[in-house]
Amino acid sequence: MNISDIERGVSVRTRVKVPIRPRAGTFDFEPEMVTFSGLCDNAEHLALVFGPPGAVPYVRVHSECLTGDVFGSSRCDCGEQLHEAIMQFGACGGILLYLRQEGRGIGLYNKLDAYRLQIVHGLDTFAANRALNFPDDSRDFRVAAQMLQALGVYEIALVTNNPDKVAQIARHGIEVNRSVCTGVFANEANRRYLHAKVVHHQHAINLSGDYR
Ligand SMILES: [Zn+2]
Repeated sequence: MNISDIERGVSVRTRVKVPIRPRAGTFDFEPEMVTFSGLCDNAEHLALVFGPPGAVPYVRVHSECLTGDVFGSSRCDCGEQLHEAIMQFGACGGILLYLRQEGRGIGLYNKLDAYRLQIVHGLDTFAANRALNFPDDSRDFRVAAQMLQALGVYEIALVTNNPDKVAQIARHGIEVNRSVCTGVFANEANRRYLHAKVVHHQHAINLSGDYR
């Protein structure tokens, strides 16, 4: 794929500073919220830019998880990972790409159907997706590369445990200088989910013996 093919037609639509208060936080951050025109899937993906991006900014590509991000579901680790990125970037700078890819791309209702299969039939997260005729992961990270290029960013330090995310973003024209693991947010409710990510998709999550 040619980088110029990606860039063509993708541009920043609006930049606006929005004060935010992280949960349990005692101070505010004021990232720039950035919207885009011409993204390949036409969804309303959002970038939060904390401070002026340096030469190789830290970037977190976070897929929307309504249950975890908004309601604090303990079935997954999304809310903690999002909060960690906000706190780190608020203090040290970075770019958070918030992708509207709920349920690894299958949508909220299908994700909750999959949760039910996991609970009733004991399937892991990937087996439940396959039982609903979805692939393990329906996400396409090309939009993340497009957003970065529209922001004028071509080289990044990617905050992720997911090797597929690194590979996809690099394939779409962004140089991933290095990847940095997120914290480990294991609990009794999400341990099977985290374990499945490690076993089936080689996520770099260091689970202690209690959570295997
Ligand atoms: Zn989640």
